[in-house]
Amino acid sequence: MLTFFGRGSAFSDQQNSSYFEDNNDLILIDCPMDSFDILKKWDLTKYKHIYLLITHTHGDHVGGVGMLVDWLYFMVHIPITIIAPCEEVRADIKYMLKNLEGCNDFWYELITVDELNKPWFNRAIPTTHSPELKGKCFGYNLIIEDKNVVYTGDTNTTAPFDKFIKEGTYLYIEVSAHHSNVHLYYEDLRPKLEEYVSRGAKVYLMHMDDEKKVLDSFYDIDVRPAPLVKDVILGDNSMVLNGVLEITDRLYKDMCMNDSPDHQMLFSYLTELAEMIVEADRASFWKWDKRKGQLWTMSATGIDKISIPDNTGLVGKALRTQKTVITNNPYSDPDFNSAIDKKTGYKTKSVLVLPVADINGNFIGALQLINKNSDSGFDAISDTRKLSLAALMCGIALESETFLEDSHHDKLTTLKNRMGFYYDFSRKYKDYLIPESQKQMSLFICDIDKFKRVNDTYGHNAGDDVLAFTAHLLESCCSETASVYRWGGEEFVMVMRDTDLEGSIEKAEEIRVKLMNSEIEADGNKIKCTLSFGCALFDPSKSIEDNISIADERLYVAKESGRNRVCWGE
Ligand code: GH3
Ligand code: MG
Ligand code: MG
Repeated sequence: MLTFFGRGSAFSDQQNSSYFEDNNDLILIDCPMDSFDILKKWDLTKYKHIYLLITHTHGDHVGGVGMLVDWLYFMVHIPITIIAPCEEVRADIKYMLKNLEGCNDFWYELITVDELNKPWFNRAIPTTHSPELKGKCFGYNLIIEDKNVVYTGDTNTTAPFDKFIKEGTYLYIEVSAHHSNVHLYYEDLRPKLEEYVSRGAKVYLMHMDDEKKVLDSFYDIDVRPAPLVKDVILGDNSMVLNGVLEITDRLYKDMCMNDSPDHQMLFSYLTELAEMIVEADRASFWKWDKRKGQLWTMSATGIDKISIPDNTGLVGKALRTQKTVITNNPYSDPDFNSAIDKKTGYKTKSVLVLPVADINGNFIGALQLINKNSDSGFDAISDTRKLSLAALMCGIALESETFLEDSHHDKLTTLKNRMGFYYDFSRKYKDYLIPESQKQMSLFICDIDKFKRVNDTYGHNAGDDVLAFTAHLLESCCSETASVYRWGGEEFVMVMRDTDLEGSIEKAEEIRVKLMNSEIEADGNKIKCTLSFGCALFDPSKSIEDNISIADERLYVAKESGRNRVCWGE
């Protein structure tokens, strides 16, 4: 049916004009300048021929015709046929194009309706406007998609159209909110509209110089405003747009109350967004761990981590080449790993991988989309464009996740640092912090004995090696429920969930003996070291700092009473 570039009048923002398509042809009804402004942004090359039906020339209804002729001839290279409703209008158009617009005759074809032989065309309907424009105003009767269509154009009477309006007719009728003798005044039109609706016509209003007033007054009749091109285009896109907004809204809300310790939630929303926006069956976000030479992603369930060497697969290829990788025939692509398909029975038909960079332009991950919901597969230009926002956000999220991770870790020992300790406390240990909780946990703080002497005797590098060795020993003694942190200098804290004071003393004792019996390779020296420990049962009624202080006081006792020992009482 007809779609309108504008449905207003010369007195509103956009003029009445519309279009429909017939196979590879575009048929326009009138072309004011504001319609041309929209048209020139379209990809017109998909059309074989453009037909332009003129209803009348006054009131700037044809102000864009000259520009359209130029545009098609010089830029788009598509033929245009301008159809005048009668000989007089044809002469006017010819004069205008030649003398006012400077268009050469052979840039366009100009005919009258009598010369037109198209299945979509039935007849031009002469109507009346001001006496001065006698014989120059027309409406049309068309057959579009097998439907009877009546388009009134500018008119001050419905009489010439009456007989064409039947059950199922699509009637596009002008209606004005202002009284004049050249248009159909809305209050006078009411009985006619009621009659057309009762005949079974679908009635669309156009030429509305005050849309709100007109539509409000007809709220009780089954008429609607003529559909605008922006509604139609947004109509398709608004589904996508609504989908995007729904996901970003959920993402925002979850972010505001997020208590998960990583960015996983963010990545899962962003991949869902990517999947929806390019209509893919699956999406995943891969992180590049350059140190380990691995690419990894969370599985669909979010529990298992899947990792592959970074020089393999299509994700590896995208990161290696720093380019989007598309394959719409993966089984014949040597970089495609079909092992997962073989295992799961899934059939991969198309893959798109978009490498993702951080703010410095270093590639740090990749967004992968699988099986586009169309036979032609992924498109390098349009799909990459659609994915750009999700990819950008993935890049920023991954970068900030990496920053956060880095800030929680100590470079020398690779243990979590004090920042990491506090970060974990509000998350990992939150169930143990409630005073009424039945859950118990304990902790110890330990400190290398006479460590200054190591530095002084063997040098700082040897001291660093001793620290790294001790940290590694502590970590290797951590159970599933325990975590160790570098508290500062040569001090470490171990937090043990579901462990009573006895348990922490045993653990400290185990480590104390192990270190005491170790010979540490440190910058070419063999060094022996010991640790002193202060243990405490975590008291949820006290602050974290106070709990650490209690353990620290006990550590002080251990130091004072000779070092290389574990203390837990006053
Ligand atoms: P105590 O048995 O009483 O704990 O004696 P200590 O010598 O271990 O204690 P002190 O606090 O006097 O000295 C700690 C030293 O640890 C001082 C500092 O230079 C050194 N240190 C702290 N951080 C590092 C580090 O990252 N690398 C090295 N090599 N030394 C460090
Ligand atoms: Mg010390
Ligand atoms: Mg110390």
